[in-house]
Amino acid sequence: MRKFCPRCGKESEKLIEGFCERCLEELAPAPGLKDMKMEVCPVCSRVREKGRWVKKSLSEVIEKYLKRKGFRNVNVEVKDDSVEIEFDIEIRNKTVRRKSTFYIKTIKRICEECSKERTGYYEGVIQIRGDVNADKIVEEISGMVSKSGKRGWFISKIDKRKEGIDLYIGSKSAVKNIARRLKNKYNADVKESYTLVTRKDGRNVYRITAVVRF
Ligand SMILES: [Zn+2]
Ligand SMILES: [Zn+2]
Repeated sequence: MRKFCPRCGKESEKLIEGFCERCLEELAPAPGLKDMKMEVCPVCSRVREKGRWVKKSLSEVIEKYLKRKGFRNVNVEVKDDSVEIEFDIEIRNKTVRRKSTFYIKTIKRICEECSKERTGYYEGVIQIRGDVNADKIVEEISGMVSKSGKRGWFISKIDKRKEGIDLYIGSKSAVKNIARRLKNKYNADVKESYTLVTRKDGRNVYRITAVVRF
């Protein structure tokens, strides 16, 4: 059966909500989409979102971006160099599902966290001491760190000494948090101390050492 668009009168193979695709575009234009550039860390696959590195997938970040632009019920599928999206659009008081594709360029860049990790940056040390399988505790801490994804949650150095293992950690709050968890779980004894390392922007910069004795 031949189909005609009631708006422009042209014959069309497929009518969407009664209209040809061109008329539909004119009645309810797809919100403007520019080709995107996204920065992705090749080491940890964090994505840069509004100037900050976040532990989210590329499609999550794009979805949030589109929602901010007013897209409703967005469905995002990331392909090699393009993004296919589906979303709802209002046309003559009816909700219509529309599809669109735009190009995406992913730029590989090492994020701040990974570059800190590589240069051995640390804000504190966890010293594992006493009667315990220290390697097992290190494994446990590695698990906590990789699950967290928060700023500074990384181990930049593992130092095996005869009295135990020292772990160099990227943030003070991570050191405190990990020490507290070990204390609660193993009833370990935790002693925290601070050392002044430098002054920066008129403020003292400290490092924390947490001795966790089992
Ligand atoms: Zn038409
Ligand atoms: Zn990274």
